[in-house]
Amino acid sequence: GSFSDLHLSRPLLRACTALGYTRPTPIQAACIPLALTGRDICGSAVTGSGKTAAFVLPLLERLLFRSRRISATYVLILTPTRELAVQVHDMTEKLAQFTDIRAALVVGGMSLTIQASTLRSRPEIVIGTPGRMIDHLRNTQSFGLEDLQGLVLDEADRLLAMGFADEVKEIVKLAPRKRQTMLFSATMTEQVKQLATMSLQQPVRLAA
Ligand code: AMP
Repeated sequence: GSFSDLHLSRPLLRACTALGYTRPTPIQAACIPLALTGRDICGSAVTGSGKTAAFVLPLLERLLFRSRRISATYVLILTPTRELAVQVHDMTEKLAQFTDIRAALVVGGMSLTIQASTLRSRPEIVIGTPGRMIDHLRNTQSFGLEDLQGLVLDEADRLLAMGFADEVKEIVKLAPRKRQTMLFSATMTEQVKQLATMSLQQPVRLAA
């Protein structure tokens, strides 16, 4: 298989070529077509499998082909650590480089005021750690989740191990019920399964 078999539009295929991706990894080949249909996904995938592009590419594709009448945050990606958020943000910017879609990074250790003003400019995609995300949703009120269409819980086992269970659940509850959610985890512990049950609707299970 090649990327051109995956029904991605030209700006995204161009980005894959620019990144030197010639063929999709197994998780990408499985996840991208399913995610493009809007299904919820529960994926067992580790770092290094290519899982970031597996969820970012279909989210970008759906954003490109949806009317974005209003300026709003349409996609939220939660990661357990700042480092991972930085990596996911970097990859998202590279994959979106030939589109008009903007991605913002929201992690601790950076100025809350500067982040708040970035969020007020309504980037389509917001990526960050749950603690700082809650801080903005509750305190700076610089953005909201009322127009959210896509939610990703990346490395869910680590999100829980880092003590973010309450924050993640609060964010899931703030998001509209009608949305697409993708959860990825290296291990499927009992707690991860509970989080999957409360956040996903009739998910497709993928392993890579
Ligand atoms: P990830 O598992 O998302 O952390 O990705 C691991 C690494 O694989 C990153 O450096 C990606 O840029 C790279 N990568 C992702 N997809 C592909 C692909 N289809 N072909 C080659 N490299 C890729």
